[in-house]
Amino acid sequence: MSTELWYTERYEEHGASLSLKVREVLHREQSPYQTIEIFETEHFGTLMTLDGLVMVTDRDNYLYHEMMSHPALFIHPAPKRVLIIGGGDCGTLREVLRHPEVEEATQVELDERVTRVAERFFPELCEKNHDPRAHFHFTDGIAWIQKADAGRYDVIIVDSTDPVGPAAGLFATEFYAACHHALAEKGVLVAQSESPLLHADLIRQCQSRMSEAGFDAVNSVYFPQFCYPSGWWSGTLGRKGLSMEAFRADDAKAFSGTRYYHANMQQAAQVAPAFLLG
Ligand code: SAM
Repeated sequence: MSTELWYTERYEEHGASLSLKVREVLHREQSPYQTIEIFETEHFGTLMTLDGLVMVTDRDNYLYHEMMSHPALFIHPAPKRVLIIGGGDCGTLREVLRHPEVEEATQVELDERVTRVAERFFPELCEKNHDPRAHFHFTDGIAWIQKADAGRYDVIIVDSTDPVGPAAGLFATEFYAACHHALAEKGVLVAQSESPLLHADLIRQCQSRMSEAGFDAVNSVYFPQFCYPSGWWSGTLGRKGLSMEAFRADDAKAFSGTRYYHANMQQAAQVAPAFLLG
């Protein structure tokens, strides 16, 4: 009789699933917002799920975290004040703080338990949590942005869960308009926008909603992400007072320490598949 243990996330509406072979269940808790589970997998290191959906694995998180941070930071001419909404595992924060010109990175995560559990099980992702530039607030990012002063941030990164429950409002035009207001001139917004293969309508919607919200130039970056539905993911970028050409290419070329992102990748990742053109 087989005693193998597999973690499976079923994509019911697509008739597909992702399975990872598990060695051990390391942790399970019910926070005020969601069920947080940590598994030790056979080949992907530690895995975190929220309400049964894969958030992070040791092995492939760098793809998402690098592509959700560096393109936006190299589009901005001089990013000093960065806001991350969501991002409780702290991998995006770590990437943001690799940029020496960033003076302040504020993370507004709804669920403090996600961050505390990440500190215990993903110490590498949390290695910059004690950087004096890092500031944490555990509250709703939508309420936070509505109260933010005009022009407060240079870059806003929305590292959210899927557009359901408390994250649904993070995909709304009103939210993007509040981000536009909270961004300084030459500000950049980037929001995770799901899978090109499975959620093309949502990507188009993010793009059109950011335009409606007042962003001058909008596009998406596409990148692989094994553990998310379809293995292919996206982030959608809105530029305030910046053109599509804005990019500190020389600074990006001199940037080291990444495993996926590099200056040419920034250009390549913006090339949309034919079904998303037009
Ligand atoms: N990379 C992941 C993905 O695409 O599946 C997202 C990871 S990160 C853990 C997502 C975080 O967003 C969660 O910790 C969740 O608590 C947080 N979140 C969801 N809605 C939020 C809101 N309205 N304000 C702030 N954080 C929120």
